[in-house]
Amino acid sequence: MRRPIIAGNWKMNNTINEAVELVNGLKRELDNINSVDIVVSPPFTALSDVNELTMDSNIKLSAQNVYWEEKGAFTGEVSTAMLKDAGCAYVIVGHSERRQYFNETNEAVNKRLKAALAGGLKVIVCVGEVLEERESGKAFDVIKDHVQGSLQGLSKLDMNNVILAYEPVWAIGTGKTASPEQAQEIHQYIRGLLKDIFDEETAAEIRIQYGGSVKPDNIKELMQKEDVDGALVGGASLNIDSFSAIVKGAI
Ligand code: PEP
Repeated sequence: MRRPIIAGNWKMNNTINEAVELVNGLKRELDNINSVDIVVSPPFTALSDVNELTMDSNIKLSAQNVYWEEKGAFTGEVSTAMLKDAGCAYVIVGHSERRQYFNETNEAVNKRLKAALAGGLKVIVCVGEVLEERESGKAFDVIKDHVQGSLQGLSKLDMNNVILAYEPVWAIGTGKTASPEQAQEIHQYIRGLLKDIFDEETAAEIRIQYGGSVKPDNIKELMQKEDVDGALVGGASLNIDSFSAIVKGAI
């Protein structure tokens, strides 16, 4: 069976002190959880300090983005080796905010993903439609485009280190969660796409997280759906009690 994975995406929040306080609280609350993969994704500036606290714990460290070149004149970018150096085991790529505000294309997401995998990171790849696309009946086409484009050229073996996150953009930070049925419908569709791209066994093993206003009070019903294997959590991951409750709700 697929092991649940709950990841907190802190986005552009938390100074080093705030990050340390949050992660110390999470360690206290989640110390005895061993049936869920727990991931936190602080901003770049707090990675090393959070790593000091999580390196011997059940909480794994993720970055929020990575560049595909190894080093050089790429002002503002960070490489896979740098993230590993800071203690990261994971990285998120293709988040809708990156696609929306920083014009990230599937091609760029694919390059980031390949570089991260080559350097030994596990990668959370985000896909999802905006409201207008859902309302005009294009959700499935958008998901297909994101999945196929982002995973272009990957092998079955590569997929051992890939987690997909379905994040309907209309549900991110809006308080509007997709219903468990809406989530399941797309997750099942994604698994079908993975079967077409790779094979049945690979598709059955890949974990697909749901993201979009996940809270302690909706995690359980989402997790009950067959193809929902975890959550990528934004707002509610910034609070010790709510993130801990979401992790516990995923067991
Ligand atoms: C996210 O940005 O990945 C996210 C799911 O945010 P929120 O939980 O705040 O909707």
